[in-house]
Amino acid sequence: MNLFFYLVLFMIGTLFGSFYTLAVYRIPKRQDIIHTHSYCPNCNHKLGFLDLIPILSYLFLKGKCRYCEEKIRPRYLILEILSGMLFVLIAFLVKFNLEDLNSIMIAQYSFLILYVTFIILICRN
Ligand SMILES: [Zn+2]
Repeated sequence: MNLFFYLVLFMIGTLFGSFYTLAVYRIPKRQDIIHTHSYCPNCNHKLGFLDLIPILSYLFLKGKCRYCEEKIRPRYLILEILSGMLFVLIAFLVKFNLEDLNSIMIAQYSFLILYVTFIILICRN
């Protein structure tokens, strides 16, 4: 049961990792990070749903844009994987598990995730 829980946290972490890559790319360029759909920085083609699945889309597309075949930097994949691992690591640190889940644990976990998110965004800028 906990293995599934940690797998879910890993997947949520990869989604955050995907957002981190988007944010660190767009914030210095003063681009919208919430309302503008993801696009290829080379051909500007809007990315489809399947192109947005962290890790898997990179692997299925063999690290290339579906539309222009420009190589996607491996750091995007690495950051998604590291974010997933970080979400699991933080869960271990606060002993976050399904058996004795409580509001303090959820608050601790959420605070650490927010803290890490701000650190990542601040370090890049
Ligand atoms: Zn492209």
